[in-house]
This record gives sequence, C-alpha cells and structure tokens, in this order.
Amino acid sequence: MGESCRVVIHEFRMTSTTMDGRNDEEIRFGILTVSDRCAQGLSEDTSGPNLKALVEDGECPSSSVEVMKIVPDEKDQIQDVLIDWSDQLALDIILTTGGTGFARRDITPEATKAVIDKEANGLSTAMLTGSLQITPLAMLGRPACGIRKETLIINLPGSKKGSQENFLIVKPWLKHAVNHLRENKTAVNAVHSKMQDKESTPAHTHDHVCTANEAVSTFTDIGKVARRPRKSQYPLINFDEAVRTVMEHSKCLPVETIPIEDSLGRILSEDITAKVSIPPFRASIKDGYAVLSSDGPGPRRVVSSSTAGQSQPAPVRSGSVVRITTGAMVPTGADAVVQVEDTELLAATEEGAEELEVKILTSAKAGQDIRPAGSDVMKGDTILKKGTRLGPSEIGLLASVGVTQINVYRVPTVAVLSTGNELSDPHGTLEEGHIFDSNRTMLMMALKEHRIPFVDMGIAIDNTDDLHKKLSDALSEADVIVTSGGVSMGEKDLLKYCLTVQLKAKLHFGRVLLKPGKPTTFATIPSSNREKLVFALPGNPVSSMVCFNLFVLPALRKLMGDPSPSPTKIKAKLTADIRLDSRPEFQRVQLVWGDSQIPQALTTGKQISCRLLSMCQANALLQLPPRSEEVSILRTDDVVDAILIGRL
Ligand code: AMP
Ligand code: MG
Repeated sequence: MGESCRVVIHEFRMTSTTMDGRNDEEIRFGILTVSDRCAQGLSEDTSGPNLKALVEDGECPSSSVEVMKIVPDEKDQIQDVLIDWSDQLALDIILTTGGTGFARRDITPEATKAVIDKEANGLSTAMLTGSLQITPLAMLGRPACGIRKETLIINLPGSKKGSQENFLIVKPWLKHAVNHLRENKTAVNAVHSKMQDKESTPAHTHDHVCTANEAVSTFTDIGKVARRPRKSQYPLINFDEAVRTVMEHSKCLPVETIPIEDSLGRILSEDITAKVSIPPFRASIKDGYAVLSSDGPGPRRVVSSSTAGQSQPAPVRSGSVVRITTGAMVPTGADAVVQVEDTELLAATEEGAEELEVKILTSAKAGQDIRPAGSDVMKGDTILKKGTRLGPSEIGLLASVGVTQINVYRVPTVAVLSTGNELSDPHGTLEEGHIFDSNRTMLMMALKEHRIPFVDMGIAIDNTDDLHKKLSDALSEADVIVTSGGVSMGEKDLLKYCLTVQLKAKLHFGRVLLKPGKPTTFATIPSSNREKLVFALPGNPVSSMVCFNLFVLPALRKLMGDPSPSPTKIKAKLTADIRLDSRPEFQRVQLVWGDSQIPQALTTGKQISCRLLSMCQANALLQLPPRSEEVSILRTDDVVDAILIGRL
C-alpha cells in the first residue's frame, strides 16, 4: 500500500473560538475519499489532497481541512463517516470525492441522501451545468448535496480534474452557505445587499473589481446561448484605474548577468563604475608637436615621435619637440601640443623620411590641446546609474571603461495566442467564412520591434478544451500571455471562463471604459515562483494593437526594470474637427511638423476598430476626452494629448 493511500485522520484541531466554541470566521472542512482501490492501497488518492490544497489556498484564510479519510464504496461506511463528522465533529462542510458515477458500486449519492435532513439541489445543479460546459461526460455525474444538522455535504466526482472543476464552481458561495446554516444574519444580509447593488447599479458606475471567484459564478450557464447574460457581468472600470492595476501587478523580473554585446535595450540593475580612466594617460588632441609652453615660438629640434598606440615616448626638453599624433601619449616634460598647421619645416633628412627641425609659429598655453588622464572619466567614477536603458552609446561607454559583463533585469518572454473559429493561418488557404489571422503576426512584430522575446502559440479554436490546452502550454513557456479575441459578449467568447474557472486566474478587470478596446481583460495566474500576467485583448485588430500599446507594452517595460515604463505623451494640434464619443477615445493619427512648433495630427482615416489600415502609418494615439454636456466636439487647431506609438 502506497504511503498516500493510508487512511489518514488528522488530529482534531480548532483555532480561537467564541463562547459557543466556534470561530465565526472559520470554515471547517472534512474530505472523504470514496474509492475501493484507494482504500485497498491499489491506487493513490490524488483528489483528496488536491481538494485540501484548494480549500486551503489562502483565498479564504480561515478555511481549513480538519479531517480526511478514505473509505471503500460501501454505503454503511460512507454513512458512518458522514454522521460522525456532522454530529460529533460538527464540521461546516464535508466534501466527498468519488462514487458518484454509473458504476455498479457507485453509491455515494445514495449514502449521502440517506443521512441528510434537507437536500441542497441548487449546488448539484450549479455543478452539473457548470461542468457540462467543460465536458459532456459531466452528464454521467449524479452528485447529491444536502444538509445534515449544521453540516453541508457536497458530493464531488472522483477524478482530480472533475472534483476540482466542480468544487471551484461552488467554492465562491460556500462561506455564504455556511453563514446561512449558522443563521449569521449580518453576514448573510451583507452579501444580499451587495448582490442587489450589483444588479441595480449601472455598470459604468461600478468601482468594484471583479474577482476570479465572482467571475466563476457567472459561468454556470456557459454554452447555453439563450441563458447567457445580456449585460456584461464585468464592471466597466476607467482607463487610469485599469493602467494602475496592470502596473501594480507588473513587478521587476530577477537580475541576470549578460555580456554587453547582448544588452541593447536592457535596463541596468546596478550602478556601473569605471574600471579605468578615460583617457588612461595624457593624450594629444591634435596632430602636431608636443612642446614646452615656456619655450614660446621659434625653431626646435624634432627629437622623436609619439604616435597613437605607442608607449613610453621620449621626453621633451627645452629647445626640443616630439612629433605627436591625435590620441598619442604626450611625452613627459611637454605641457602643450602645437598643431601641425601652426608650424613650418626647417630641416629634414635627405630622403624626407624624418624631420630634423621645425619652427613653432604660435605661443602655446600650458595644457593646450592635451586631454589630462581621467579628464573624461576617472577610474572608480559611476558612469551609468541603475535603471539606465542601454543604447549603443551607453554600451560603447561600458566598453570604453573595460566593463564587459553587466547585471540587468531579465526580459519577459511573451506567449502570443489568437483565438477564434474563424481564423486561418495567413500561410494557409482561406476557408469560407474565415479570415486570415492578423493579430498574432502583428503582436509578435510589435514585440520584436521592442526586442522582447516571444513564443508563437498559434490559433486556439473557440472551445474550452483547446483554449485550456493552449493557455496551459503558454503558461509553461512564458511570463506573460497576450491573447486576442474571445473576450466580449458572443456565445463563443470563452476566454474569461477558461481563465477563471479552468486556470484559476484572478481576473482584475474584464471591461475598460475606452474606445477602442472596451472588453480588454487583465488577469494574473499564480505560478510556482511568480505571478504570470495575462492580457486578453479584444479581437478587432485595431483594438488589440491600441491596447497592446496602452497596457501590454508599459507592463513589459516595467517587468524588464524600466523606471519610466509609461508611453511618452506630447501635445498635438487637430487638423480637423472631431466629434467626441461617450467613452474616452484613442484615435490613430500621424503627427507631422508643419510651420508650427506643435505637431499637427493627421487622421489615418475611418477609425472603426476592425480597419487595420487606420493603424498603418500611425505614430500616435490622440487621447480624446469623453463627450460632456459642455464639450461634444473638438475643433481644428485645438491642442490635445497624443501618446507616441511609433517613430516621429
Ligand atoms: P472577438 O473578440 O473574438 O469577438 O472578435 C472580434 C472581431 O475581431 C471579429 O470580427 C473577429 O473575426 C476579429 N478577430 C478576432 N481575432 C482576430 C485575429 N487574430 N486576426 C484578425 N481578426 C480577428
Ligand atoms: Mg472570437
């Protein structure tokens, strides 16, 4: 028998309690695995421990599993445990896993029904309808849910996947259910009034951030098109709040050491000090003669030469000079350089191979045309600060002081996925009813333009299995996932469901008051070392590109350590009247400089969000305010904010 198959009973455990022996916040669970094979030690119980982990995942810190047990598919034994745990331990919730199917020995629902005082059919229905959207196999499940005394008993399927999916469907409402059982009216009423507020408040006035748990609860009818919500369940949050939320979750990636040749565009994670001075020695600025300034003008003997790269040139004494080239070491004794243009040749060797005597025509000042050692950079000086973005000049500077390995923040890897049954790969043929997938290529090229590595995840069709698989693959390969499509109100818009229910993502927002890009969705998914970010962008190509610039790019810059990740904003002058929308709008324009100091914004044409042509040649997005009672139209020559997205 495997270790994990032994029947495990954890020590009975209570946290701080009230006078009647119960902590009002605490929810105490028992998990009963019903399986002949696990009870005999022939297979490992993975469902029970997984459910325990889901109960104690920290989302509800006061939920804990007090007791776990494995029994065979024997009605009596199941009943005994259910009775013992509800009557003696007075647990709040018992989760059973296994024995809910059609097999001859599957008996858990019958054992449950035999001990409960009241049925809780709503929970079974919610689980069945929810899991039917994931797999038709759910129709073969027969979970029973009910209440015995003050304990809620919930049957879950036996498989790890099935029990997890079903549990996550009901999990958001368990605390509320327990409060009902405890007749905790204050807590119950608080939830009820919150729900009513939600239903009666116009969506755009919500300042509430939709949580993953709340989102799960809206998905129980997924796939039944007639039952889909006709108003989005997601609060419309304003643009600034959405950006703030994204930036809060975009934390600097760890540091790595790389050679400077690979560091273009990267951000330094440390101050850099010079290993050597520049110049490392007194260097001549001109081609000419190293002289003693006190000698003044007049004839001089040329005793030697000092060319760039040569070491230890002969010293200069009064009456003599050393011929010198730009960048060469100035000989000891010399305190100035006189450029060759200010001299005359007086004598040379016969073949002209060597100069013997020259006349200095000007009087030199001490220090003239000499760069003292360390005059540009002194050894030990800080030459670049932590947070500096490395361009060619900065990298050249590093090379100039002999620094070849540097510490920078890691760059995120981004997985790019398109979604939609209608999408064909642009390299293939176009089927009837299809369009070529442009978003994926466009987003990957945008990443390439910003030197951010990406993984092409292809196209996911609009079904939860394919989305789940491709998103899971993306999660294993990247720090950030960028998808397009499948986030609005269509019957095939399954991405939010997949993120929250299947991948346990935390959804921070599902709609933004913005044009284009209203359904833009942002979620985070816990992962072993750090949270992964998911940007589910709208499918319309312009929307996805605009939102890439507004949300994704600043987040990526922050991840890679950029201290000023926000896009650059400048002022631009309108060249035509613009009628304002009810939403804040980002219109695509080309900025050009005419005679005026402020650039003029030339529209890129019809601004409908499917027309990618309006993105072409655009180098800025005009940030237009929403229409108000006072202002509904902006006029030619009005000055507005413009966010730069391309080369000027
Ligand atoms: P959706 O958000 O999935 O409802 O898509 C909205 C619109 O964008 C539909 O007309 C889609 O066909 C289109 N669309 C979605 N994804 C892409 C894509 N990858 N490339 C081009 N158009 C797309
Ligand atoms: Mg779609």
